[in-house]
Amino acid sequence: MTTNQQLFDTASELMPGGVNSPVRAFGSVGGTPVSMVSGEGAYLTDVEGTEYVDLVGSWGPALLGHSHPQVIEAVQRAAGAGLGFGTSHPSEVRLAELVRQRVPGAEQIRMVSTGTEATMTAIRLARGATGRRIVVKFAGCYHGHSDGLLAAAGSGVATLGLPGSAGVTELQTKETVVIEYNDRPAVEEVFATYGDDVAAIITEATPANMGVVPPEPGFNQFLREITTRHGALMIFDEVMTGFRITEAGYWGASGREEGWTPDLFTFGKVIGGGLPTAAVAGRQDIMEHLAPTGPVYHAGTLSGNPVAMAAGIATLEHAGAEVYRHIDTQAQRVADELSAALVRAGVDHSIQKVGNLFSVAFGTSTTGVRNYSAAQAQEAFRYGPFFHAMLAQGVYLPPSVFEAWFLSAAHDDAAVERIIAALPRAAEAAAQASPQT
Ligand SMILES: *Cc1c(COP(=O)(O)O)cnc(C)c1O
Repeated sequence: MTTNQQLFDTASELMPGGVNSPVRAFGSVGGTPVSMVSGEGAYLTDVEGTEYVDLVGSWGPALLGHSHPQVIEAVQRAAGAGLGFGTSHPSEVRLAELVRQRVPGAEQIRMVSTGTEATMTAIRLARGATGRRIVVKFAGCYHGHSDGLLAAAGSGVATLGLPGSAGVTELQTKETVVIEYNDRPAVEEVFATYGDDVAAIITEATPANMGVVPPEPGFNQFLREITTRHGALMIFDEVMTGFRITEAGYWGASGREEGWTPDLFTFGKVIGGGLPTAAVAGRQDIMEHLAPTGPVYHAGTLSGNPVAMAAGIATLEHAGAEVYRHIDTQAQRVADELSAALVRAGVDHSIQKVGNLFSVAFGTSTTGVRNYSAAQAQEAFRYGPFFHAMLAQGVYLPPSVFEAWFLSAAHDDAAVERIIAALPRAAEAAAQASPQT
């Protein structure tokens, strides 16, 4: 039998860090990454035959659980008809229709292959449509790995961004301004400084890549109002939250009720049902700036790939109201039990939760986490031991304290009870953790 260790040793010779995406390497929790070979419902099985309750869900796409029969069947049927034609085809129209039914503000849609490509295209489109150069983003919000969005906060509030990665130059980030999340005065200062040069604000609909950080009441609406007032666009990044938090994403739990709509949305993860698809969508008059109707270039050999469309269509068609109700209920149960176990073990923490997405932050009970500085200041060292105690009991959590926990329609009571049963020992491990371990 191949072991996880053997496979990771070989992988580490063949691939940088042994992985194709960094968090998979267990860098922040330590230990040997687990290599999965199959997934069914709420469970994953690794190369050693060990089964885990999965709380990663392929980082979001697995809304219905792994290997949902109707999704697999739709993918097999599409694959049997050909893997792709590089032409127009009916299923891209069907998926676009499904998206617009759920999110009417997605008047027009351009399919792409990854969330990174969706936000990169949205930024180019915003600059092209407004003729302006500055983009505002929030520290700790992740929008994929395109150069201009890998910017870190500079020193002063309204200073231009510094490169957030080696290989990204100051030239590539000097038109990105990075400010703290939930900071209205900072947003106002940016507009006071750059006024009519601001093309767009891009924000995660609700941040979930620095752990979950709820927008303070009215914050998104404030962003909508200030961008409108200054003729800038609002790009609502729903790559993680889209079709997950509600059937209409986080917009369905905020803008729809409060009566506002962003100019552009980006979608990913759930929209592809586990295959590579994402999208940029929004106001028709803006979307028509994209080629071929307009001068903003975007193209993709695999954009709207029919097999990926089939997975997305089947996922959205089976994600009805009862799916969201179920995931909300199970997420609440797990979050409540997680908190109770930590309280019993005497571990100071806050549960960071928005709808069915949540994460835990350690040492933050007095204030919670409202921005990236607070997320970074937490007692992150408690997470590694917590994670490994869960793993040893057959529960696969995100291997970083800065990632959300994902439940699915397949997390039935039996799966949830397995998670709950593992919590006390993990909470003890978190209690005993020290900064050196
Ligand atoms: C995952 C994610 C992205 C990037 O999507 P990829 O498909 O990994 O390129 C962008 N924005 C948000 C909010 C995400 O969660």
